[in-house]
Amino acid sequence: MEKIIKYGFQPVVNNVIHGQNDEKGKKLFKSKHVYGVVEKTNKIKTVITGKVVPQTGVSNFYDVTISVDSNRHVSNTVCTCKAGLEGKCKHICALIHYVNSPETSSSKTSLSQQWVLSAEMTKLKPIKLTVASMPESLKNTPLRKILELEEKENIVITRAESMLQMIQSKAKEVLQEKARKVVSDLFLFYIH
Ligand SMILES: [Zn+2]
Repeated sequence: MEKIIKYGFQPVVNNVIHGQNDEKGKKLFKSKHVYGVVEKTNKIKTVITGKVVPQTGVSNFYDVTISVDSNRHVSNTVCTCKAGLEGKCKHICALIHYVNSPETSSSKTSLSQQWVLSAEMTKLKPIKLTVASMPESLKNTPLRKILELEEKENIVITRAESMLQMIQSKAKEVLQEKARKVVSDLFLFYIH
């Protein structure tokens, strides 16, 4: 099955192109010359494509394609401009800057934007519960037992926070890691 992303990209690592082309690419991105960016992941690979309008003559555009490996390192690059045949032009850099910009990437700053975008999600914000503050209706639930354990052992079991991050995260590896953490926390609870 293919996964398609048009917003909230995980950042990529550019080990391919540095120097002048990178600077020029950054300018192209900042002057909004990049559009139509799509990331597609299937079982074999992740490919990001986009269109970059050249600095001169806005009636045309170049098609840019970059491949990234499982660590999000840029592994292969192609652009339809003349210099792009070697895979090292400013348009490729512009696309990479677009993917890595806070406005489009899913890292750091955009996380708060996601919060703003989804009113339902903000309602899920974890609250600090203690055994003492626990409502009567929850007194005989597993949650109370988890809280008792947390207070007794002075540990924090990741519950709502982990679930929330799982919902927000788009990266499979992160999901798996969080799921493992939740399971191991619950296991810790049940063997006590
Ligand atoms: Zn190019």
